[in-house]
Amino acid sequence: MKTLTVIEDIRRRMQMRMDADEETEEAEGPKKFSGLSTRLPYALCKDLGIDTTGMTPRQAWEAIEGKGIDPKETFEKKIAEPSKKVDLKKPEKTETVKKGEYSSKVEKFKSTSDCIDFAHKTLGLRFYDLSNMNVDVANTVVSEVANFYDTFEGFKESRKLKAFKQYPKSTSCVAAYAPFTKEVLLRNVKRKDSLSKMKAQAEAQKKTGFWSTGDTEHAMRHEIGHAIGYWLANRGDEIGEKRYREIRKLRLKTKSELGIDKWNRYEKPEIVKKAGKVLSYYSLYSTHEFIAESVAEYMSGHPRETAKKVVDVLLRKDW
Ligand SMILES: [Zn+2]
Repeated sequence: MKTLTVIEDIRRRMQMRMDADEETEEAEGPKKFSGLSTRLPYALCKDLGIDTTGMTPRQAWEAIEGKGIDPKETFEKKIAEPSKKVDLKKPEKTETVKKGEYSSKVEKFKSTSDCIDFAHKTLGLRFYDLSNMNVDVANTVVSEVANFYDTFEGFKESRKLKAFKQYPKSTSCVAAYAPFTKEVLLRNVKRKDSLSKMKAQAEAQKKTGFWSTGDTEHAMRHEIGHAIGYWLANRGDEIGEKRYREIRKLRLKTKSELGIDKWNRYEKPEIVKKAGKVLSYYSLYSTHEFIAESVAEYMSGHPRETAKKVVDVLLRKDW
């Protein structure tokens, strides 16, 4: 049968729906699952004996995850065999490392498979369809994730970033983060010149003011930044809501100070440039993008005031 194709199709549709880059100005606020994905978590919770009274679909997914179960795995099992109960299976344990030590464990790996091996064992990450990723790109991804783990303590344990995956060719996006599967999707990573192309693209985008940095790593940092956003601000609890609302306020303030009324992909170059002087024009599209662009700038090591403020709010605990 076509079960696998169906799963892939559903997953792809969900990824597209959940992809932050698809969000519009009107879709402000924490994202919600809908349709099939709304009913699924309740069905899974029932199998797992979790009472879902009063829970939103997101809270139901979080409850599944709270049981130490990989929602992606249970989801696929449920799709494959809807009538069967799902098994309780804990994820495999990965090596634990003290804070600040991930980066020191990273070396310049000689092959992509060495990178993948290290990512799996030490960083707790999977790479799908990426065995032919260029070795320089693979080294860059691994080193970036290690920097994120060292900068945002608890990020690894949050399991908001689980894998990197090849982006389907049919899409025009640069990269994406899929909050449902916790995967970062990358494109154009196989060639010898992939890294220099990433650099050229980031530099060009930074120059216009559309992206917040011109670093080679910008796109991957931006996508991992979405994972940070889902972990700290958009996670369905009170403290996350507070952080999200605070950052949204900051975005709207920044936008109005720049005299931007409605975000527009074909905005005048001088306005885009002006936004780039503060953070980036793309960041003003939505609060999710505001977070991702700020985190990317923060990870560049040279954050300006806005990016610093956003990260401060993300890390704030004393509300
Ligand atoms: Zn984004």
